[in-house]
Amino acid sequence: MRQRNKPWADEYLQENNHIVISDPKSKKGNWSQLFNNNNPIHVEIGSGKGQFILGMAKQYPEINFIGIELAKSIIVSAVQKIEEENLANVFMLNENAIDVREMFADDEISMIYLNFSDPWPKNRHEKRRLTYGRFLEQYQDILGANGEVILKTDNRGLFEYSVVSFSQNGMNINEINVDLHAIQDETNVMTEYEEKFSAKGQPIYRCKAAFEK
Ligand code: SAH
Repeated sequence: MRQRNKPWADEYLQENNHIVISDPKSKKGNWSQLFNNNNPIHVEIGSGKGQFILGMAKQYPEINFIGIELAKSIIVSAVQKIEEENLANVFMLNENAIDVREMFADDEISMIYLNFSDPWPKNRHEKRRLTYGRFLEQYQDILGANGEVILKTDNRGLFEYSVVSFSQNGMNINEINVDLHAIQDETNVMTEYEEKFSAKGQPIYRCKAAFEK
């Protein structure tokens, strides 16, 4: 995703620490308290500018959402939107998801969304893919029973790699969809990338996978 240097981003994120939680590791096991209810918690990794997580939060007020986005200059756009909409069921984390297990307790999360994750096509970068085994091991711990990992992407290479990685890491594949937009689905919340790529006529792939728990 395109990044512009935003010198004000640091200060802006600190000012909005009611939305961007600054020390998420200290909240491990206590996210329900922060949301002030016992609703299920869904996590999106690599939220970008937040279109998906905002759309989901509005569509499902009875679900709590946490968006993780590494890039400061990108996460600020998500925070601005959440602030404007005054949504109580979304928090953002400006973190690297490589440490996701340190931020959430076992079984604390009900769903993990990976939307248009960086494909890292070179073999030597395999470990950086968000569906690499080391990431999946962490998702396994934090996901509760019936929890799913839902991947959407336009990238066939990442899609195929991920389906194989899911099954090699003991997950059941619950859905493989190689043209998500072939059938109109009002409940599908589009991400920024999804709008961009589908407008160009590229098929959107989706896979849902779950660990047995
Ligand atoms: N989900 C958005 C953006 C996709 S681009 C959309 O579909 O439109 C992928 C995003 O993931 C980028 O913004 C990148 O900064 C973020 N990202 C990549 N690796 C990450 C990691 N390890 N932890 C958190 N965010 C990450």
